[in-house]
Amino acid sequence: MVSLATPEEYKDKTGFVYDVEKYVMVPHCARLRRVEVEQRQQALKDFVETFPENKMEINSPDIGIITAGMPYNYAKEIFPDYSYLKLGMVYPLPEKLIRNFASNVKKIYVVEELDPFLEEQIKAMGIKVIGKEIFPFTNEFDPGVIKNSIQKNTKEAASTYQENLSPRPPNLCPGCPHRGLFYALKKQKAFVHGDIGCYTLSYMKPLEGLHSCICMGASIGMAHGMSKAMKEKGKGKVVGVIGDSTFLHSGITSLLNMAYNQSDALIIILDNSTTAMTGMQEHPGTGYTLMGKEAKKVNLKNLISSLGIENIKIIDPFNQKETRSVIKEELAKDGPSVIISQSPCVLFKRANIKPKPALKVDPDKCEGCKACLGLNCPPISWKKGITKEGSKRKGISFIDETLCNGCGLCAQVCKFGAIS
Ligand code: SF4
Ligand code: SF4
Repeated sequence: MVSLATPEEYKDKTGFVYDVEKYVMVPHCARLRRVEVEQRQQALKDFVETFPENKMEINSPDIGIITAGMPYNYAKEIFPDYSYLKLGMVYPLPEKLIRNFASNVKKIYVVEELDPFLEEQIKAMGIKVIGKEIFPFTNEFDPGVIKNSIQKNTKEAASTYQENLSPRPPNLCPGCPHRGLFYALKKQKAFVHGDIGCYTLSYMKPLEGLHSCICMGASIGMAHGMSKAMKEKGKGKVVGVIGDSTFLHSGITSLLNMAYNQSDALIIILDNSTTAMTGMQEHPGTGYTLMGKEAKKVNLKNLISSLGIENIKIIDPFNQKETRSVIKEELAKDGPSVIISQSPCVLFKRANIKPKPALKVDPDKCEGCKACLGLNCPPISWKKGITKEGSKRKGISFIDETLCNGCGLCAQVCKFGAIS
């Protein structure tokens, strides 16, 4: 049921407020603002005691659960008759309400995922509760975790629901331009620092194309630092990979630092013309704003050159021969290099990529070497037990034509000309 309020007339309240004591945080003003912070905190403590989203349900007088968010639903599903204090606001805590709840039940469990945030604050109030003595510190809960922990009274007994499903790890799409790049990189055996994007998935077997991923924009800085350390020890060259969107968001300053401090790392910008992983958002390199208006489009090559990088190459990652030879060439050079691996995301509508006819494996030509399986492309699978006279093969590859987009990468990888 939705009840409608009377619409309020819009009053434009925008304008400049000149209040330097509020907006300029030099020490003198910060000291004044600290008083405001304390007053606001006290006002919040008063507010939270009557906040309607902190809900108390008194059922069983024996057992009560204090919780917040999703664990409430899990607990309620398993123990509908317990009493509950469901917190809709967890900071500051409603101390009076919690004391009231504690006076209504004999035993209290605090059900919260990961760290004991509520539990520690409630224990600090002098209220006896049971929390991480029996609930796990790790991962998300589900009704099974809560049930087992409470009934067996030990967190070692906690278990998750085991659905009878095959594991389905995420993967790069068929026709993804990143696949060819990472396949070529693996052949070079370089240490690759990754970043945040679809391409992070290439860390998995069999591609194993990147070896670290810390946070957004970190790959270039990590590659720079490691390459400095490795050079001193006479070890190999280091690679950093980063998407076009991430590079423009938080990679430019690290590349400037790399050019300024001249490390030997090779940086590869995976330019797929969009922000694919999070839903195809525009960015300064696409030529459009997030509102869909035409915008100034950053020229990546000019930008990189203006930062002080002299070795810049642009490649098509679907061309394996070129990709491998350019990577090899740049890895052999001293000083920083950048390769722009340019090909739009296969799902990017504006790029209008039309799938080509699906490829097929010729069972007479396939030698069962499994090189194509190394691409980890979803349509390619293995059929065991299909042998051939005069060959050591133990099976053959198979391409599911309903999934293949005909990008041609696997045909380039097969040395026996079995894919066409
Ligand atoms: S790379 Fe070629 S020969 Fe090797 S398994 Fe695949 S199709 Fe068969
Ligand atoms: S052509 Fe080969 S690599 Fe490309 S999508 Fe089809 S199976 Fe995958």
